[in-house]
Amino acid sequence: MEKTIFNVVSFSGGKDSTAMLLKMIEEGIPIDCILFCDTGLEFPQMYEHIDKVERETGLTITRVKPDMDFEYLMFDKPINRKDSSAIKIKYGADQTGHGWPGPKMRWCTKSLKDTPRERFLKAFKPYYEIRYYVGIAADEQKRLERKTNQNPGHIHPLVEWGMTEADCLEYCYSRGYDWGGLYKLFDRVSCWCCPLQPLEDLRKLRIHFPDLWEQLKEWDDRNFRTFRADYTVRGLEARFLFEEERLHMGKTIRGKEFMAALRERLKESCDDRKEA
Ligand code: SF4
Repeated sequence: MEKTIFNVVSFSGGKDSTAMLLKMIEEGIPIDCILFCDTGLEFPQMYEHIDKVERETGLTITRVKPDMDFEYLMFDKPINRKDSSAIKIKYGADQTGHGWPGPKMRWCTKSLKDTPRERFLKAFKPYYEIRYYVGIAADEQKRLERKTNQNPGHIHPLVEWGMTEADCLEYCYSRGYDWGGLYKLFDRVSCWCCPLQPLEDLRKLRIHFPDLWEQLKEWDDRNFRTFRADYTVRGLEARFLFEEERLHMGKTIRGKEFMAALRERLKESCDDRKEA
């Protein structure tokens, strides 16, 4: 027996998936479910945006959450590590939690997004043929190739419509969605605490979201991994303060001379902490 089609829109709340959803509605493409995987780590403005989309489209957004939150997974989850594990050797068998995610340790994507999404969809698969709509923009060629290889059945309407990332943002703005200015600050918006975000975004996080920055410091202080391979959060803060000082004096924050002066400053702030 042929299965009924179940049209699922993958909705992150970002500019691309929002543009995809709004245009699908305008084009009259059937939508049975709008699925948002809630990591719990979105900016407050993103949650407001998602509520606004729901209110203004009149369509329900299904929010799925992981069983365990980021903080528990990072600090407290018991983990059965191999004897050869570098973490077990360095911190002992009792070390709980994954620690900060890193370029080769993106445990959070699986735990916070993939697993909750697959668990949700699994319940429909025996009865429905799922058409899964994903908002990859027409100019995200590499991401498109990777995702198409991983999930050949997914549909990418933005590519069919030739909508680039810039087109998506303009389209959303023209429909009255502005994320409270988030995209004026950041080119891309994902988890506010992501250690993989560019340095420039971290500078902005510290300035524009001081409460989140304080939270980041607190999480980093009690983490067995440092936030980034090259910096702790406090180290980043020392760097950003030093940059501000230099800019105030009309000096550059690029180049060899700056990096040498920065190393000195970071050494001093480290020594100060030891003496304190
Ligand atoms: S954005 Fe960063 S913190 Fe969030 S799920 Fe992806 S890798 Fe993890």
